[in-house]
Amino acid sequence: PFDVLVVGGGPAGASAAIYAARKGIRTGLVAERFGGQVLDTMAIENFISVQHTEGPKLAQQLEAHVDQYGVDMMNLQRAEKLVPARSPGGLHEVRLAGGATLKARTVILSTGARWRSMNVPGEDAYRNKGVTYCPHCDGPLFRGKRVAVIGGGNSGVEAAIDLAGLVAHVTLIEYAADLKADAVLQRKLASLPNVTVVTSALTTEVVGDGTRVTALHYKDRTTGAAHEIPLEGVFVQIGLVPNTEWLKDSIALTLHGEIEVDARGETSAAGIFAAGDVTTVPFKQIVIAMGEGSKASLSAFDYLIRLPAE
Ligand code: FAD
Repeated sequence: PFDVLVVGGGPAGASAAIYAARKGIRTGLVAERFGGQVLDTMAIENFISVQHTEGPKLAQQLEAHVDQYGVDMMNLQRAEKLVPARSPGGLHEVRLAGGATLKARTVILSTGARWRSMNVPGEDAYRNKGVTYCPHCDGPLFRGKRVAVIGGGNSGVEAAIDLAGLVAHVTLIEYAADLKADAVLQRKLASLPNVTVVTSALTTEVVGDGTRVTALHYKDRTTGAAHEIPLEGVFVQIGLVPNTEWLKDSIALTLHGEIEVDARGETSAAGIFAAGDVTTVPFKQIVIAMGEGSKASLSAFDYLIRLPAE
């Protein structure tokens, strides 16, 4: 069995695996797609101490760093069930879609999350060419330009307030008749001179010139009228979905499906830890996921050295 089995190969999982392997303990890493969301990222400019990198390059460097420590890497393998140990100190089981079962004294869950997309024409074609999901990552790329934020929940309204300080103009588009964000955020939004709020609006298409975004089309849901907004950027903020469908029966999740962790990365099951975008830890970013991964790994090590000798 493994001492530490990491499930997920994004920044959080890579960091957890390196920290575990550096303790000289048996470490495995299972990932459906090593690199995680980073693989879908082009410019990364907030990975502190690296002024500029690209997702695929960072993913390669993560892999090289993990390889250096002899981690047992199982890439292109999807975990589909977690069976926590029946007694404290016992072995946990992780079942893979291929049929194999892995056993481990501690498990670190770092299966990340995925952005909910609008599913309208042009969204995929202009992803990273004006369509983005991360205001903290890409906001500065739109300095002085016109953008739309799709979604009037807390994350959409926070994004609109954040972007209003950088860009020329923000149009916030909400499908329902009212914004869902906290009142304090809505008041702040209403006080900003360069923000327009459009409610009861269904986004229908992202339009571009082949290279980048030039406009957004939406339909007014009350009148049925079609509208076009000329702009350079579209921030989609309609939800982040944690990859925890396979964990529902095994450990405690929030209503939104995030794994509940404490300050040490412990989940509801002894010996099972979690880190990164898949958890309740706020703000989904690479540096945060890496920090959380190393923390969960150190907690796992702490747990292991307290187990009674066999
Ligand atoms: P993820 O990166 O989501 O990795 C999850 C891992 O788990 C993957 O290897 C996946 O294949 C695997 N997995 C999932 N389910 C299973 C399963 N059942 N079995 C086995 N493996 C599984 N952050 C920044 O800080 N700066 C940026 O500039 C930036 N730009 C971004 C741009 C885009 C387009 C996107 C999508 C995200 C961006 N982010 C950025 C966010 C950042 O990528 C995430 O916060 C970070 O990758 C989270 O790391 P993670 O390890 O928690 O999860």
